[in-house]
Amino acid sequence: MTNDSPYAELLGQLNRIHRLETVAQLVGWDEQVNLPPDSADLRAEQHAVLAETIHAAATDPKLGAWLARLEAADAGLTADQRVVVAEARRDYDRATKLPADFVREKAAQSSIGYHAWAQARAQDDFASYAPVLEKNLELAQREAAYLGLGGRAYDYMLDKHDPGMSAAVISRLFAELKAELVPLVRQITSSPVQAKRELLRGFPVAGQQAFLREVTEQLGFNYRRGRIDVSLHPFCSGNGADIRMTTRFNADEPLDSLFSAIHETGHGLYEQGLPLAQHATALGRAAGMGVHESQSRLWENQVGRSRAFWRFFEPRFRAQFAAQTQDVSSDELYLAVNAVEPTLIRVDADEVTYNLHIILRFEIEQRLFAGTLAVRDLPAAWNAAARELLGLTPDSDRAGVLQDVHWSDGAFGYFPSYCLGNMLAAQLWYAVKAQRPALEEEFARGDFSGLLHWLHENVHALGKRYDALELSRRVTGGELSPQALLRYLRERYLPLYCA
Ligand code: ZN
Repeated sequence: MTNDSPYAELLGQLNRIHRLETVAQLVGWDEQVNLPPDSADLRAEQHAVLAETIHAAATDPKLGAWLARLEAADAGLTADQRVVVAEARRDYDRATKLPADFVREKAAQSSIGYHAWAQARAQDDFASYAPVLEKNLELAQREAAYLGLGGRAYDYMLDKHDPGMSAAVISRLFAELKAELVPLVRQITSSPVQAKRELLRGFPVAGQQAFLREVTEQLGFNYRRGRIDVSLHPFCSGNGADIRMTTRFNADEPLDSLFSAIHETGHGLYEQGLPLAQHATALGRAAGMGVHESQSRLWENQVGRSRAFWRFFEPRFRAQFAAQTQDVSSDELYLAVNAVEPTLIRVDADEVTYNLHIILRFEIEQRLFAGTLAVRDLPAAWNAAARELLGLTPDSDRAGVLQDVHWSDGAFGYFPSYCLGNMLAAQLWYAVKAQRPALEEEFARGDFSGLLHWLHENVHALGKRYDALELSRRVTGGELSPQALLRYLRERYLPLYCA
């Protein structure tokens, strides 16, 4: 088609929307990394104006007219163009059903909610946060109703993060996982073998920064199109042209900053691997948060906690921290990297018990949306679930219901993506190892390019063509399922703890 064709016009508008979205992301990044303490009100207003501007661009009637012309001329479109048009149609239809006032209100509320959460968490004050959560739930229900999905609001929230997902599909996957994971956790944690993470104390932050920079560069992160900073809650935002990652430092938890950085690097590598020229369309966008988390979790866990990884990096770690590691044996270091211990805090959890934290949140979110759990009863429900699933009772709401940022900005339905990502990561791991049997020998030499290349070809280059369920079938040859994850956890942890 020629340059002034409706397809070119569509691309021009999608580019404009995308550029505005990247500005909003940058403002959000700055909010969590740099914002002065009393500047939150202005930031909420900035978010609202940006959201309103993006919504106006996304609902421009010209966009609808171009889409209608392209759909009428469907036969003249290439397969790639059809993917772009179908996704643009889905976004356009959703955006036009939302009133501008609602979009503005929700954006401001997200920002207000974030700061209310941060304060409530600092002061362990759930009561001050409860009205924010009630408001966020009401906005989520209203959003679903605008889209004609009243009564299915939770499915809509899940689908927003992971296209094609529903509570029914996730319930089935999680039930299968839980049935085998709970006994596996019991088996590992009742072992006399115990990791001694307390051996790792007093690691200067500057050294940690230097080491994680070395690691993340070696994994393939391009710092000419990205950076890493510090925030309360590690995250990754932006796109392949400008990735913003964060981590956080604690002198007595050097593995925490390192693995947070590797996790965010996995997200960054995915974004940097998406087709750069197509960032504004479905061809250059991430497939969904489950697939995104499969990338971060694969680099963090399957790669970063492997023997082969540490064969290469242990000498470098010791060179950076000679005094701190002189009394730590290689086996002790490796066991600390793979410590398994139920904890109350999800982001501190090991990869075995981590999934139980997600199941807890999924069960609670379903009850909140079904109206069978009131916000005021959340702390008690959370603590009961923690007791049942983790065998631990939070001694404060900070260690319970207030620990996560997600609900504060209305991101209900996001948590399951982490666990779906863990499942997909394990399936991808076995798929790549079948095709590259010497993969771990490559890691031991410090060469991670073979894995990155494979992920690039099989996941990154596909953009948003396939959802997590379809991607699993095409790339791993099997349905998305917890079985590969369970196999991987047994293969990694039983020899360490139960040999
Ligand atoms: Zn992540």
